[in-house]
Amino acid sequence: MADKLYLIKEGEISLKGGNRNLFEKRLRHNIKDKLRPYHSEIDKQKGRLYAYIDESAPDSLVEKALSTTSGITGFARAHRTEKDMDAIRRTAASILPGAFTEKGSFRITVKREDKAFPFSSKEVAIALAEVVHEAYPDLSVDLDDPDNTLTCEIRGEAYLYTSEAKAVGGLPAGTAGKGMVLLSGGIDSPVAAAMMAKRGMKADAIYFHAYPYTSDEALEKVKTLASLIAPYMQGMRLFVVPFTDGQVHIRDNGYEEEATLMFRAAMMQTAERIAKEHGAVALITGEALSQVASQTLDAMAFTDSMTDLLVMRPLLGMDKEEIIIRSRAIGTYETSILPYEDCCVVFSPKHPVTRPVKEVVRRHFEELGMAPFIDKAVRETKVFAFDAMGREIADE
Ligand code: ATP
Ligand code: MG
Repeated sequence: MADKLYLIKEGEISLKGGNRNLFEKRLRHNIKDKLRPYHSEIDKQKGRLYAYIDESAPDSLVEKALSTTSGITGFARAHRTEKDMDAIRRTAASILPGAFTEKGSFRITVKREDKAFPFSSKEVAIALAEVVHEAYPDLSVDLDDPDNTLTCEIRGEAYLYTSEAKAVGGLPAGTAGKGMVLLSGGIDSPVAAAMMAKRGMKADAIYFHAYPYTSDEALEKVKTLASLIAPYMQGMRLFVVPFTDGQVHIRDNGYEEEATLMFRAAMMQTAERIAKEHGAVALITGEALSQVASQTLDAMAFTDSMTDLLVMRPLLGMDKEEIIIRSRAIGTYETSILPYEDCCVVFSPKHPVTRPVKEVVRRHFEELGMAPFIDKAVRETKVFAFDAMGREIADE
């Protein structure tokens, strides 16, 4: 077979009991879906998947596919050979050039799953260390913190690999039901979305657009963010809700200091409508406790009370620095910090209430009579769709 081989490590799935098959089936489906149109076959042996992928699939595409697929903790481009010491040595010699740094240290890791293999782990390690020394005479051995690692796994066959990439971990997207993420152009909400995808959720996204107060660039930015998180979700739709009239109505008829709360209440109700139409049972936001005025306990208790959907706030206990680290890791940070303002900023009151009394603000919201604005916004919502690799596609 001229296919490329990738060895894939499952994380939490391997702890599953009776329904483990379901999770594995979904994981295989998700990987194959991402690698389409390239042919791929996925085999399995004890806690490992072996993906044989059409040789013509670019490495960068395969790496993007695997590093965004939840349910995988790590993966490596691997080379397999017969369980024969000479063959193992030859394979090591053929994959080493260019794979290690010239200076520094290395270690050999041997996993001898096949206990009938006639050489011990130590013997295999010594043999392979010699091969490394021939190719890289300046490298020393460091078992604790090596700059380079050559791993040899002896199972049904022998597998060798030199570098292992980390992936997201968690459980395969599509095993935990469906949500709807409120996606703004900021740093937080894409991170919140990716965190729930990691727990196995799939979600579509909703963006409230207040054109011309928010620009076309702001919309393009949110579309880019959607395309960047779509791979974690195995594909996703973005609902763009035109909400200018609703925002202006709130600004002109409500209490200034409550404007953000009123807008957030309207967002919850609108999102709930769209979520229910599309089979989502939870809303996901990027809120973190007390990060801004509308994210105090009282404020969130109020916005929660405006919908009967479960509202998930995976960033609740995180500070900005932690969120930024995650944002960089999932690849959305550079886009999120582009300067186009989102609509909350444009309509923000100077002195927002931080300790709203639920009954009072609920009554004020009632008095605003938002229903017709919400109906109209839902009717005029536009949809964009992204496939499992984040490419924009026609919505089916
Ligand atoms: P982010 O970085 O995600 O924009 P933020 O810290 O700026 O969050 P807010 O602007 O108060 O906080 O928004 C809180 C959450 O409300 C966001 O994380 C997002 O889930 C949602 N949200 C805010 N504005 C919009 C919008 N225009 N469209 C959709 N969702 C929004
Ligand atoms: Mg924001």
